[in-house]
Parts: sequence; structure tokens; C-alpha cells
Amino acid sequence: MLSGRIQRKKVHRERKNIKQCVICGEFFEADRETAVCCSDHCRAIRKKLREQAKTPKRKTTNTQKLVEDAKKAREAGLTYGQWQARQYTERERT
Ligand SMILES: [Zn+2]
Repeated sequence: MLSGRIQRKKVHRERKNIKQCVICGEFFEADRETAVCCSDHCRAIRKKLREQAKTPKRKTTNTQKLVEDAKKAREAGLTYGQWQARQYTERERT
């Protein structure tokens, strides 16, 4: 026999949490309340930036370049991954 009573309350609580990435500015669906970056890549950049902020200027990292690349990708209407892949294939062809 089927029971119509089986219903999960969790389903009702499900909600889309749209946030803006602090690194590339892209909007993304956050699965966590604390998420601030759209991707692992941006998360890595953010981590580097935080580490950079802590440590005194010694080594020049390419963090700034990564941020610029992320912006370029966004301007091109691509995700950073797509843009990076395109850059890579272009480099491979030549
Ligand atoms: Zn991002």
C-alpha cells in the first residue's frame, strides 16, 4: 500500500543561495553559507592573497596575474577554466 504521508521536510528547506565570487565577481550557486568563491581556482587565489597579506613582501607571486586572468575570462564570457583551456590549446597549436 502506498502512503501519501511520506514527505521530507528537508525538501522544503532547500534553497538556492546565489552569491558573488569575491575574486572574479561571477555569480554562483553556493552550497554553503560560508562560500565566497565560485570555484576551486578562485578559492586558491583567495588563499594565496590571504597568505600574501600575512607574509611580508619577499617573493613576487603571480597572484595578481591570476586575478587579471580571471577578469579577462569573465570579460570573454567564459569561466576561468574554459578560458584557461582555450589559452592552453592556442598555445599548443602554435
Ligand atoms: Zn570566481
